[in-house]
Amino acid sequence: MMQKKTDVLVIGAGLSGLMAAAQAAEQGKQVLVVAKGSGALGLSSGCIDLWGYRLDQPEQVCDDPLQEIVRLVEVNPEHPYARVQDVLTESLAYFSDICAASGYPYVTSPGGNWLLPTALGTVRPTYLAPVTMAVDSLGEAKSILVVGFRELKDFYPEVLAGNLKKNAELAADCRINTLMVSVGGDLNPNTLAHRLERPAVLNEIIKQVKPALSAGTLVFFPPVLGERADSTVAADLAAGLGCPVYEVTNIPPALPGQRLQQVLLRFLKHQGVEVIMGCTVTAARVTGTACTGVTAVGNGKTMQITAGTVILATGSFLGGGLKAGMGLIKESIFDLPVKTCAGEWSDRDFLALSGQPFNKFGLTVNDNLQPVDGQGRVVLENVLITGANLAGCNYPVEKCGNGVALATGYKAGKLSGGVSSAAIR
Ligand SMILES: Cc1cc2nc3c(=O)[nH]c(=O)nc-3n(C[C@H](O)[C@H](O)[C@H](O)COP(=O)(O)OP(=O)(O)OC[C@H]3O[C@@H](n4cnc5c(N)ncnc54)[C@H](O)[C@@H]3O)c2cc1C
Repeated sequence: MMQKKTDVLVIGAGLSGLMAAAQAAEQGKQVLVVAKGSGALGLSSGCIDLWGYRLDQPEQVCDDPLQEIVRLVEVNPEHPYARVQDVLTESLAYFSDICAASGYPYVTSPGGNWLLPTALGTVRPTYLAPVTMAVDSLGEAKSILVVGFRELKDFYPEVLAGNLKKNAELAADCRINTLMVSVGGDLNPNTLAHRLERPAVLNEIIKQVKPALSAGTLVFFPPVLGERADSTVAADLAAGLGCPVYEVTNIPPALPGQRLQQVLLRFLKHQGVEVIMGCTVTAARVTGTACTGVTAVGNGKTMQITAGTVILATGSFLGGGLKAGMGLIKESIFDLPVKTCAGEWSDRDFLALSGQPFNKFGLTVNDNLQPVDGQGRVVLENVLITGANLAGCNYPVEKCGNGVALATGYKAGKLSGGVSSAAIR
């Protein structure tokens, strides 16, 4: 059986795990990441939602998410943001620096939250958006052209166009038109995005779109403008068409989330972090209140891994960090206590505006992100919890999923710097 030792073991390669690994390496630690899959990041829009709506008027988009989080923590000290308020702004700056240096920058809106168009023609609040999605002049547009691809299922320009006028604050005289283009073949979002990186294919698209443009048109595409983690396809299209070009958010799988994952994995490689994908942690050894090691299985091999600090970034039900059975929710590796709720765990109305209660289930932690039991006692000293497996946040309604993952991951990585390598058993 293979033995491995490291200062910091990160279990999970979603946004929280990748942020934790980056920051732990920054602290001079030897870091190993193991993950059974890519988590929610590759499915998500790739935008960083920090906080969407006003606490006092939940139907209103909030103008200053950072200030709203200060108020949130006062009224709801159980929210994961209460544990990371001390590092929130520095974690966002750290993330933005990584993305900018990689050539795939993320930008904030001068209005506090972006209101970005979705494929359904709604607008969604988000705090940080990749430059390819950051529509900064929607309200001033005189004309919008929504372009779809015949080969791409699940993106219907007419649906976007039909609903956008109802949902976005557009100029009264703004016209919205649609156009279907074709590149041939049978394509999924990834293969289409890959094809669009070829200049000949891009020129063909420019040829098909150009006749439908008038001066000052904003052009919306589904999020398939290149598989690579950069913005060159969008920039080349904009130059060729002579109009601003943006990707809108669409249902999974979404390329912008996958691009962000590429950016962070590339950064980790550069920092010398070892990442083993396709590797599942199946068991943990615990002595008293310390994790003394874990067993991981992947690629037909079994590994025993010992680490000074273990960062549990295993996500929620989708990631695999929490498992649900009949009347039972379990944390999947350490069997840590999971906070649920009294009463119904789910709402029959799946899209209930108050959100599904089960989204709030998860692990309770102290300010050092160590798991605690119902009495507030630390259960495991050298295990830190991050991201979607934390209790108390209802990300779909609060619009805070990637914000919580980013900030808690960053803090766990930073805290791991305080653990001495001599602690490795
Ligand atoms: C479809 C979808 C779309 C979303 N869109 C947005 C959005 O647009 N904006 C936004 O802000 N938020 C969005 N969210 C929420 C946001 O993506 C998540 O809250 C956040 O990314 C969670 O990150 P995480 O790292 O905590 O967990 P995850 O991304 O779930 O990662 C968990 C990781 O742990 C690994 N893992 C689990 N168990 C084990 C094990 N035993 N051994 C090894 N590895 C293990 C998984 O394979 C994975 O790598 C979306 C979520 C979903 C599901």
